[in-house]
Amino acid sequence: MLETKAFAAFDPKQPLSAYTFARREPRPNDVLISIAYCGVCHSDIHQARNEWGGAKYPMVPGHEIVGRVVRVGAAVTKHKVGDTVGIGCFVDACNECDACKRGLQQYCERSIVWTYNGAEKDGTPTQGGYSTQIVAHEDYVLRVRNEGALDAVAPLLCAGITTYSPLKHWKVGKGHKLGVVGLGGLGHMAVKLGVALGADVTVLSTSESKRADATKLGAHDFLATRDDKAFKRASGRFDFLLDTVSAPHDLAAYAGLLRTDGVMILVGAPDKPAALPAFSLITRRRSIVGSLIGGIPETQEMLDFCADRAITADVEVVPVQAVNEAYERMLRSDVRYRFVLDCSSLR
Ligand code: NAP
Ligand code: ZN
Repeated sequence: MLETKAFAAFDPKQPLSAYTFARREPRPNDVLISIAYCGVCHSDIHQARNEWGGAKYPMVPGHEIVGRVVRVGAAVTKHKVGDTVGIGCFVDACNECDACKRGLQQYCERSIVWTYNGAEKDGTPTQGGYSTQIVAHEDYVLRVRNEGALDAVAPLLCAGITTYSPLKHWKVGKGHKLGVVGLGGLGHMAVKLGVALGADVTVLSTSESKRADATKLGAHDFLATRDDKAFKRASGRFDFLLDTVSAPHDLAAYAGLLRTDGVMILVGAPDKPAALPAFSLITRRRSIVGSLIGGIPETQEMLDFCADRAITADVEVVPVQAVNEAYERMLRSDVRYRFVLDCSSLR
C-alpha cells in the first residue's frame, strides 16, 4: 500500500486537519499520479460539512487534480511516466450503461465512483486531491497540455467542464445573450468560456466589488443583483442564464430575466430546495434545466479547447494547511476566483 499524506474532514463541524492513509498499489490498468495542485470547489465545502447528506468520514476532498504520472501498471497504454495529467470528479463508472456508452459517465446509471466521498467497486472509500498522490484507472485520467501554469489549469477539471458542458449542450454562442449568475469559481470560468464561444456575456453578481473584474474576465456587461432598479430593467433580457450560485436564492426572480423561450441552466447546488411559481415559466415559455460536470471525452475536449486558447482559471494558490481559511472566504463570496492548494506543502 502507498502511504499518503492528506488533509481531511473528520466530521461536519470541525476544521479539516492532517490525515495519513493508504492508497492501493497500481493495478495493471492504473496510473499513480504525484499531485501538484488541487482546486477548492464549493462542492468540497457542501460535502465536508455534510450539507447534501451522505458524507463519509474521514473525507479527503478535492476533485480538481493536476500532477505528474510517476508509475504506470503493466497494461497501461494511454499515459506514461512523466506525463502531466488531471483527474476530475469521478475515477470510474460502470462503463456499460447507456450513459457510459455515450461518454456521459457523470450520468452513469449503475455505479459511478466519485473521486472522494464515494466507494470503489470493491467498497474501498475513495479519497480526493487534498493529498500527495492518487491512483486511478487510466481511462479516467485526462491529458493536460498547458504545462506553463499548472496551478491555473487545476480548476478546469471541475469548474471548467461544469460550465463548458452545458454551454456546448445548449449551443450557447454567437447572437446569444448569456447571463452568468454568481462570480465565483464556476462563474468566472463560465464568463471566459462563454466569451470564447462567442456569446454576449453579462455577469449577475451580489458583489458590486467584482464589477471591474467582470470586465477584465471578458464580460460585456455587469448587473448588480442587489440593485432592484437595475434588476427590473433587465427583465426579459437573456436567452440563457447559467446559475452557479452555491446558496439558496430566488429562482423565480432570476427566471424573470429570461426572454420568451429563454433557458436557465442550473449548475449551482444549494443544500435547500427553491420555490418555483409556475407563472415565472409559463408566461414566457421559459425552461429551467440542470447539468452535472461532463463526461471523460468532453472533459478532454474542454482541456484541449482551453489549451488552444490559453484559457486557465484566475487562482489564489495557498498551502493545503490554509484550506479552512479558504472555505471561510468562499462562504463570504471572497474568492478571486479559485483557491488552489499547493500539494507540495504536505510533503
Ligand atoms: P464559489 O466559488 O463559492 O462561488 C459561488 C458564488 O455564488 C459566490 O462567489 C457568489 O458570487 C454567489 N453567491 C453566493 N451566495 C449567494 C446568494 N445567497 N445569492 C446569490 N449569489 C450568491 O462556488 P463554486 O465552486 O463556483 O460552486 C458553485 C456551486 O456549484 C456550488 O453549489 C457547487 O456545489 C456547485 N457545483 C456544481 C457542479 C455541477 O456539476 N453541477 C460542479 C461543481 C460545483 P457573487 O459574489 O458574484 O454574487
Ligand atoms: Zn467541483
